[in-house]
Amino acid sequence: MRFTLPRDIYYGPGTLEELKNLGGEKAMLVVGGGSMKRQGFLDKAVQYLKDGGMEVEVFEGVEPDPSVETVMRGAEAMKEFEPDWIVSMGGGSPIDAAKAMWTFYEYPETTFEELTIPFNFPELRKKAKFAAIPTTSGTATEVTAFSVITDYDKGIKYPLADFNITPDVAIVDPDLVGALPKNQIAFTGMDALTHAIEAYVSTMNSPYTDPLALQAIEMVLDYLPTSFYGNLDAREQMHYAQCLAGMAFSNALLGIVHSMAHKTGAAFSTGHIPHGEANAIYLPYVIQYNAKEPEAAARYAEIARRMGLEGTSQKALINSLIDKIREYNVKLGIPKSLQEFGIEEEEFKNKVGEIAELAVGDACTGSNPRAIEPEAMEKLLTAAYYGDEVDF
Ligand code: FE
Repeated sequence: MRFTLPRDIYYGPGTLEELKNLGGEKAMLVVGGGSMKRQGFLDKAVQYLKDGGMEVEVFEGVEPDPSVETVMRGAEAMKEFEPDWIVSMGGGSPIDAAKAMWTFYEYPETTFEELTIPFNFPELRKKAKFAAIPTTSGTATEVTAFSVITDYDKGIKYPLADFNITPDVAIVDPDLVGALPKNQIAFTGMDALTHAIEAYVSTMNSPYTDPLALQAIEMVLDYLPTSFYGNLDAREQMHYAQCLAGMAFSNALLGIVHSMAHKTGAAFSTGHIPHGEANAIYLPYVIQYNAKEPEAAARYAEIARRMGLEGTSQKALINSLIDKIREYNVKLGIPKSLQEFGIEEEEFKNKVGEIAELAVGDACTGSNPRAIEPEAMEKLLTAAYYGDEVDF
């Protein structure tokens, strides 16, 4: 068994300045679209790196859901520039892309196919170390062993997983999330809650991950609504909470809420379902399904008990947890079902069989506390479509 985290996590307002102290010669800074640039944080990051005596090159424009091509272009740029630090700043995407670029920079002969085998990476840090700076509060990729890269030719999102790509340094600076749009605060916050709950009930849960998961759940419940309503102190706490949840799930893995979100996110013609919003919709249904498994039921009840939710029996405690999640979804304007979200019934019925198969095959299904077959997955997705209770 193994528990892996970044060596250093700097947190607090203004900690972006820690870039001065990385202690290298050349930094490749990988970033996404314009929001950090517009807010002046890109210039600041470059200046801090220069103040630290480093030569800096910026790789800009990593798209949301980064492609294999972008990864290869970034790796080429790194081969040219030869950085000894890779610094990535952004929502999940630029950091995920930079993790893969880093791997191809160190091992140009490796193939993308080889990297899609979980925990099969070559040993990194022969050429560079890696720092990550999140600018949203949800994916926690700054502390995780994961990266998601899309092969647009094949139309497949590949989750890459290996502790080699757990960053060396994470800088969790709440100043960078002060201007997040409201819906992103809601969705990424519920994504973080899902990470913590799935990690806590995962078959890979451990005494090392449990405290992180519980603390993250408590902080999300305490701070997400006020952060959503605009309180910046709460926003800061949410930034830390999502990071703690990431530390838990990077080591304990996730479950079928994520399997379902991954395979439904881009499945319908009516539009993309944002990742965190999909998780928030599915979470109560999955708790009902998983709670038929005694160990999972005990763990959900334990979450409720630790959070001070009401209930004297195990069943009552689990119901309190489900009610609490539903209450948060209502507060945050998240629909109760896929139908309410706006997915058309005919299209759903036509596609649910295939989606169920794909969801069962998702990388997150293996650590779910209750086993699931495509038939039950189809029933579960159907319950989440119509807003029905799950009792099977
Ligand atoms: Fe997630």
